Formats: sequence, structure tokens, C-alpha cells
Amino acid sequence: MSEKDNDNKASPVITDRFGRTLNYLRVSVTDRCNHRCTYCAPSEDKFAQKKRAEILSFQEIARVVRLMADLGVTKVRLTGGEPLVRKDIEKLVGWIAEMRGIEDLAMTTNATLLRKYAGLLKENGLGRINISIDTLDPERFRMVTGGGELKPVLEGIDEAIKVGLAPIKLNTVIMKGVNDHELASMIDFAGERGITVRFIEFMPMREGVDWKKFYLPVEDVLKRDDIRERVDTSAVAEKIDAKNKVAAYSLPLLNGKGKAGFISPMSNRFCDACNRLRLTSDGRLRSCLPADMDVDMRAALRDNASDENLIALIKKAVLLKPEEGEYNYEEDGRQRSMIDIGG
Ligand code: SAM
Repeated sequence: MSEKDNDNKASPVITDRFGRTLNYLRVSVTDRCNHRCTYCAPSEDKFAQKKRAEILSFQEIARVVRLMADLGVTKVRLTGGEPLVRKDIEKLVGWIAEMRGIEDLAMTTNATLLRKYAGLLKENGLGRINISIDTLDPERFRMVTGGGELKPVLEGIDEAIKVGLAPIKLNTVIMKGVNDHELASMIDFAGERGITVRFIEFMPMREGVDWKKFYLPVEDVLKRDDIRERVDTSAVAEKIDAKNKVAAYSLPLLNGKGKAGFISPMSNRFCDACNRLRLTSDGRLRSCLPADMDVDMRAALRDNASDENLIALIKKAVLLKPEEGEYNYEEDGRQRSMIDIGG
């Protein structure tokens, strides 16, 4: 019998200082990645990959996830770095899928290795998958990913559809002058396959990149004719919030079975609704993506801390969560970029 079959306790909740319920944990299982995306990975000289001993073991990750599930986390996403480059990742998937309280287990991947892993991940209990793909042009793909090949990614998407890792969402970072002319083709690609594509505003997460050069707000994308011809934008007006801003949302496609999502971490930060905590590959528990504040779980885990001690650390990380996360746009040299924190 799995833990899940024996679940009749009242549901716990983790609440932060501002009354938000935190029920979503994103776990970075590695800081290694087989892509070097221009907006994500810092230049090699600025990013020292962690040594194996610095990275949490699967047992350590599972212990933190189990405690968090006992506290009220119901959703877990495995990310990185690239989660599929971590050996035996399907084992961790299996362990977490079996945990009491975990209702939703997902992964974010660049899909280069997904053709091989999709079936195994599904069998081990992965519920759904987000696949990062910013362009459908092989040459541009190489440029954006620092030498990556598009073909295995397309094969990975097909395999994920075939094995039923649903819903599948494609993540596309909007980059002005790089892929903004391709957004309509990305919608068509998703629509033909009955999956969702989500366009994400470029965030200043990597040092040395002039983010303003690439940044294009979702609002501007939604005004474009090539997008309005494909996406049912009639619901946009209903989605205007109290701040007169459009929050992140997904809209049906006019022709096709899929959806298009528009995620605006920069133009409308949706911190009010943030339910996330993040565990980095080296065991720091972080409660806000842009805020460089975290709690060291690894030291405690390796110092034989009791569950009570670990729970106290989790609560400390929760208390650190600011009301609003601030991106430090102007400053070059952020402490941690997306590949390091876990996207
Ligand atoms: N390697 C996996 C992948 O490519 O999906 C998982 C990790 S990656 C850091 C997770 C997500 O973060 C990707 O969808 C990526 O596009 C997004 N991301 C990274 N840096 C970003 C940035 N500066 N702005 C917006 N999204 C970013």
C-alpha cells in the first residue's frame, strides 16, 4: 500500500506573513544543463558548476519534500538546470509521486532527452510536463541555446504526447528582435498538436545581458494582429485586475485544440497570488525568485537535524518571503541566475 492510500488527515497549510498559502514547491535537481540559453546561463567564467557533493542527494531532496508535503505542499515541479541530465531522475519522480499529500507532480525540461525518458517518467508517476522551446528555426535554436539541436526536442515533444504526459505546455521566452516574429508559428505548432504554448516575458535573471533590449511586454504581444487572428482575446477585458493590469492567463485558440498562455512576471508581477517555494540544487530554500534570501537546508540535513529542526528552517524561509519580489534591473552580477536557482 502506498502512503497515498492511507490519507485521512485534515489538510495542513503553510501561510506566509501576508496570508498567502504556499502549497507549491519547485525543486531544482541539478544546476547542470546541456543548453546554455542566452537569457539563463551566465558565461562559463561567472558560473562555477557545483561539485557533486554540493548537490542534494535524492534522499535529501525526498526528505525535504516529504516534510513540506506534511506541512501542506501539494504541488511539486522538478526543474534545474536540466532535470533529465540527472542520473536516475525517474527514481526521484517515483518517490515523490507516492508521497502522501502530493497531488500534482510536474517537470520543466528542455526535452533534448525526453524521447528516451517520457515513457519512464509517465510510468513512475509524473503527471505533466512543461517544455522550453523558444523557436522552431534550427539555426536560431542553436543560437539561443548555445549550440542545442532542435530535432531531438521536437521528437521529445512528440513522445510526450504519445505517452500521454498531459497537459503539455510549451514555454517560450519572448525576445524582441530574436523570436517575436515567430510567436504566431509557435501558436500554430501548439494548436496542431492540441497543446498549450505559454509566452513568458524576459526577466533580468542573467548578468551581463541588456534585458531591456529583448524585453517585450505581453500586453504589446496581445495587441498584434497575427496573435489576435489566432487567439480568442475576448476574455482579456474580464481579466483586468484591481491594479488595471492583466494577470497571467491562458486563452483558447480560435482554430485548434490548444491554448495560448501569457505570463507577465515583469509587467504585472502577480506576487499577490504567489504560492511558491523553491529548493535549489545545493539545498537552499528560497521563497521568492528574484529576492536573494534563502535558508540553508543542506547544512542541517547533513548535520543530522531532526524533523522539528528542518521544519523550523522551512518556516524561517516562509517568513523571508517578501510581499513583492524586486528584480534588480540595473545591477550587473546578480548572485544567482535561473540555471542556478531553478526555473
Ligand atoms: N532546463 C529546463 C528547461 O529548459 O526547461 C528547466 C530549467 S529552465 C531554467 C526553466 C525555465 O526558465 C525555462 O522555461 C526558461 O525559459 C525559463 N527562464 C530562464 N531564464 C529566464 C529569463 N531570463 N526570463 C524568462 N524565463 C526564463
